Amino acid sequence: MITRNIYRCSLALLLMTGFTQAQELYTPRNIKQAIEKGTRTTTGLPGKNYWQNFGKYDVKVQLDPVARTVRGNETILYTNNSPDTLKQLAIRFVNNVHKPNAVRANYASDDYLTSGLKIKSFTLNGKVYEVNSGDWGTVKLGDFGQKILPGTVATLAISWEYPLSVESDRDGMLNASTFYCAYSYPRVSVYDDYNGWDILEHNGRQEFYNGFNDYQFEIAVPKNFVVWATGELQNAAEVLQQPILERFEKSKQSDVAIHVATASEMKEGKVTAQQEWNKWKFKATYVPDFCFSVSDNYIWDAASVDLGTKRVSIQSSYVAGTPDFEQYIGWQQYCIDWFSKNWPGVTYPYPTMTAVQGFADMEYPMMINDSSVPDNFVDARQTADHEIAHTYFPFYMGINETRYGYMDEGWATALEFWIGNAEIGAEKNKELFKDSRVKRYIFDPSTEEDQPLITMTSQLNGLGYGNNAYIKAALSYIALRDYLGDTGFKKALHHYMDLWHGKHPTPWDFFYSINAGAGQNLNWFWKNWYFTNNYIDLKVDNFMQSDNKNTLSIANIGGFAIPFDVLITYADGTLETIHQTPSSWQQNEKRSTVTWASSKKVKKIRLDGGVFMDYTAKDNVWEAVK
Ligand SMILES: [Zn+2]
Repeated sequence: MITRNIYRCSLALLLMTGFTQAQELYTPRNIKQAIEKGTRTTTGLPGKNYWQNFGKYDVKVQLDPVARTVRGNETILYTNNSPDTLKQLAIRFVNNVHKPNAVRANYASDDYLTSGLKIKSFTLNGKVYEVNSGDWGTVKLGDFGQKILPGTVATLAISWEYPLSVESDRDGMLNASTFYCAYSYPRVSVYDDYNGWDILEHNGRQEFYNGFNDYQFEIAVPKNFVVWATGELQNAAEVLQQPILERFEKSKQSDVAIHVATASEMKEGKVTAQQEWNKWKFKATYVPDFCFSVSDNYIWDAASVDLGTKRVSIQSSYVAGTPDFEQYIGWQQYCIDWFSKNWPGVTYPYPTMTAVQGFADMEYPMMINDSSVPDNFVDARQTADHEIAHTYFPFYMGINETRYGYMDEGWATALEFWIGNAEIGAEKNKELFKDSRVKRYIFDPSTEEDQPLITMTSQLNGLGYGNNAYIKAALSYIALRDYLGDTGFKKALHHYMDLWHGKHPTPWDFFYSINAGAGQNLNWFWKNWYFTNNYIDLKVDNFMQSDNKNTLSIANIGGFAIPFDVLITYADGTLETIHQTPSSWQQNEKRSTVTWASSKKVKKIRLDGGVFMDYTAKDNVWEAVK
């Protein structure tokens, strides 16, 4: 009897183990600890003990266009909502990536380099500190001998200056008297429930992880310089001449683009108030960052878009006569409306959006800095769509891009694909997406390409970084939409977005909240796409036809659970397409069988993944022997 019992036990154990392995996702120890502490959950809900810290920033800067410097002073009211007593404080200044000795992912030209941040005074809770910012990187963790207790507000007062780089990347000089000023102020780095202080250096490649803050920003510039910024301009009447002011105010109610300031008006001093320095005041509430752009020669277009519940002010700032930027008002109106009403189908969360002609192809809250592609409007518009899509991920959703880039770039890339169908038609868009996104990933057999998606972005470089963050993640979301169908996918996506917007979801919060929103355990799908070295490669194994039953066996060599079409050509010339969703791979990730009824003689069968391009497409075909 004992033998039999042992047999039963081991069978039960085997079944249980198999079941558990199929259901559980690898969870890092720090995320497990967060779940144990009740700040996060396995149901996708933020934990009952979830917290995040908050800053209220009152910033005054002065930009000297001749000296190319920004000087500033700020007061930060920093609320410690954590249960921890903070004995240290981390200050982040991303712009120090321009310092010669910064930790940097890429080669830097002489024109990119600057001397970096100079802290001129630093006060914490009224106590003055001597700060030597000469040895600061992009983040500095300091021990100030003070304790910031849970539930208290620390007051920081900082004054600083830094030079603007000649060669602009995500920030810097755009032309002799035009500047894009991003990351222009020292900020408190994120302190969170799963890592404590975020002290990862910014290296110019990975993107950002910022807490949500309220900003009041005053930007002093010489007369004839216009300022565009995150948030709403509070004192247009003080800084603009009357005709310009009237046009700007009118644009906020106008569907049609208005030239707020033309090239000749900029040149002739007819735009701004004529005092030596104008102070432009902006306000932005609960956003992860603030940036601005300054020019005395860019022109200024504006209109707005009516989303039903509100009008969003749309602006463009660019070099007169730049053909693609002349289209930007219309493009921005269209995509803000489309994203609000289709995918993600969440109303654009901010009051403004401004596109500035630069070199970065980079998103900022309520701002994008795009390079001009004057001879290819499709390409230019794809960039505009992508950068504006970032409004949702990372900004609205508070994504930690530094560690989990796929949680924002993947979505921006998927949204860029979906809006492209509406803009240029599905067929043309499919080819564009393959050319611009998929080919450089799938046809490169380097090991870097097949690192698991879950790999921390901060640990990746080059190809491994780019394709993991963008295309592989985008394909996982496109596959999930195909698997769940539009209604189910939207329900799941909105569940995640409703639960986590304005917070800091990790990939596990995403997986679990999508599971809950979809009403099914998708861990097999997450495992397949995120925790393997899979790629895209199907192969026709065998085809059999008997009477009116057709059986096609397919091997999944690459392993990703992709959707695909079976394209059948019959001997009589008729065609049939059978669509297979990723559910084909749910029971067996390596093999699947497609069956259909037809007594017509089959001439040819081809598997087509569409944008899920196959590494070796030539073995995706079966042909009848002639
Ligand atoms: Zn992006």
